[in-house]
Amino acid sequence: MTRHKKRTAKAVLSGKIGRYEQSLSLAENTLALSKVLSNESIRTAPPKAKRPGEKDSVVLDIAVGWFRRIYALRQQHSGVFYALMDKEQIARRLKVVRQVLDKKRIRCLIIARPANVTYVTGFLGDDSWAVVAGVRVYLLTDSRYTEQAEKECPSCKIIDRAGPMADAVAKLVKRLKSVRAVTVEESASLADFEQLRTAVQARLRTAANVIETIRSVKDAGEIAAIQAAASISARALQQTLPYIRPGVTESELAGRLDFQIRKLGARNSFETIVAFGPNASRPHHQPGKRKLRGTDSVLIDFGARYDGYCSDITRCFVVGGMSSSYRKVYDVVEQAQAAAIEMIKPGVKIKQVDAAARKLIARSDLPVYGHGTGHGFGLEIHESPFLKADAKGTLKAGQVITIEPGIYMPGKLGVRIEDDILVTETGHKILTRNCPHRPLLK
Ligand code: ZN
Ligand code: ZN
Repeated sequence: MTRHKKRTAKAVLSGKIGRYEQSLSLAENTLALSKVLSNESIRTAPPKAKRPGEKDSVVLDIAVGWFRRIYALRQQHSGVFYALMDKEQIARRLKVVRQVLDKKRIRCLIIARPANVTYVTGFLGDDSWAVVAGVRVYLLTDSRYTEQAEKECPSCKIIDRAGPMADAVAKLVKRLKSVRAVTVEESASLADFEQLRTAVQARLRTAANVIETIRSVKDAGEIAAIQAAASISARALQQTLPYIRPGVTESELAGRLDFQIRKLGARNSFETIVAFGPNASRPHHQPGKRKLRGTDSVLIDFGARYDGYCSDITRCFVVGGMSSSYRKVYDVVEQAQAAAIEMIKPGVKIKQVDAAARKLIARSDLPVYGHGTGHGFGLEIHESPFLKADAKGTLKAGQVITIEPGIYMPGKLGVRIEDDILVTETGHKILTRNCPHRPLLK
């Protein structure tokens, strides 16, 4: 062993990695987990001969074992682990939220949109609101979720409401003596707003996109969770490929893929789309009883959700042989996607990225798709920024977006290719590189 190797191995064995669990952020743990899942840069067996500069496999092996253990434990006690490792992350997030609220002179913000509630509290349940007032964050939930909330939201004050949400908010606002005006997210329904107006004894205002704008730029923990979700998606699809064979129905194939996602400890980001042959010309086709025939094409649009964070991938396959017309369409879509991805970096106009893909398809005299070229995603599957022809603004480092151009010819075929891209400080990183994308299946 070299001195360096000895030192690192000793650090691992002496429990440095043991302390890892406490000191590492959720982000770092999840990132390591995603690497384990995608077999990226982590070796599981010692090499026969070591090349100069190669990393210590002993350390890596132990690390892999450790993260597998964390993964298993997290699946068993997800709430506990989430809470243990997430407190700092939420605190950093809230610091930004408070700065924005200060700037907008919002003393008390009532948050109704589930993804925004998760963002400021860490809570992954339903039917709950959050209130940010000064240094305090309150989660208003009910008895179905109080136990979960205590695990997931160690930095929140949890309020177990028995009656209507508006009454719980009113009671809280009354307690917060210095609050004279309350701002309600526009995501609250009109009915909710009317009820609040009757119950709350303070001036009521509304605000749009406060938390959504902050959420559009992801922090390290969110990026790690999205990377883990993308890696799980890639692995699930890899494990589903053997089931793409004549006779399988769209619905059955979607079920197989969903099962693999569940087995890997994740959930669906949205309902899986599987479309055979001409069914793929409808971008949001619902999988049915259609059976796969000899030389059918297959379009699969799906995504795993991990730790609350989504991924979103579309792949197209052909069994048997590929017709020259399908090949042409596939190649153009692939080129259009590459043209858009190439442009991604901080500061570039969003509409220019959208235009790059469309221009390429228009030049080939094939029909240009009607949907956006891509969209942001995170806690929700569709988030800001939206890549459309009339989109305003520029890309920012930390945003995670899809690029998904397509060509649709009703009655004939549909091809769409979709990948998940992180905007980095210097350019971009494709998070779904490991997802199978050879279109021809044997
Ligand atoms: Zn998709
Ligand atoms: Zn999408």
